[in-house]
Amino acid sequence: MDFQELRPGIFTATLDPAQVNVTLIVGGERALLVDTGSSQAQGEEIRAAVERATDKPLSYVVASHAHWDHAWGLGAFTDVETIAHESFAEDSGCAENRERAAEVGAAPTVSTPKTLLSLIGVRDLGGLTVEIAHFGVAHTHGDLIVAVPDSRVLVVGDLVEDPPSFDETSSLDGWVRCLDAVYALLRDDTLVVPGHGHAMGPWEVGHVRSGLAAIWGQAEWAYNKGVPVEDLYTYDNLEWPWDQASAEAGIRVAYRELGERAAR
Ligand SMILES: [Zn+2]
Repeated sequence: MDFQELRPGIFTATLDPAQVNVTLIVGGERALLVDTGSSQAQGEEIRAAVERATDKPLSYVVASHAHWDHAWGLGAFTDVETIAHESFAEDSGCAENRERAAEVGAAPTVSTPKTLLSLIGVRDLGGLTVEIAHFGVAHTHGDLIVAVPDSRVLVVGDLVEDPPSFDETSSLDGWVRCLDAVYALLRDDTLVVPGHGHAMGPWEVGHVRSGLAAIWGQAEWAYNKGVPVEDLYTYDNLEWPWDQASAEAGIRVAYRELGERAAR
């Protein structure tokens, strides 16, 4: 693997088995990496590629969230400041995360980040500032967005996926609100780097936000009407974004949240 330069000082590389994107941000004095791959060995491979891409020291590593394909290479970076959201341990240990990792034989251990953020962090790379922010429960409990304002780049992890993927730590309601906030930040020339797939502009982020809002809105309407969750995908000629499996996974998350809300 080797990094490709996306914008000056911003590099990305894509790694199997999950086609995950990792992003390297290089300032005048230091570098910051977003995401680490799925194992210690992959983390070490990424680290070697970082050293080929820049002579600046790698000082910070951010885990966009705790899913195995993004964060389980953290063990290769124990000598630098590793940063994640405070829900990292809980999300990393969730059953679906571990099951998906086991399916591809990813190492079942993950090292604990040194710094845990609840809301926001700022790091100076030497003439280049990086802002790290959490916008609430969305794809997981602990998604972090990494912004490089001077470069008009936003690294969003799996907050923007087409189709999106859901698990027991996801919130449909929260995800829509999170992407409302992300969308509001974007300018026409902002480049958004997702956790998988190509870098994109604002309109593609809007497309994902609309799809999630459609699932949430239709599920909320149907839940209040008493439509059983298993009937909803084919109910009343409703149309759903993405493929059936993705939409149904989103519907199940929405009904779980709506049920929890009703029980309060
Ligand atoms: Zn994920």
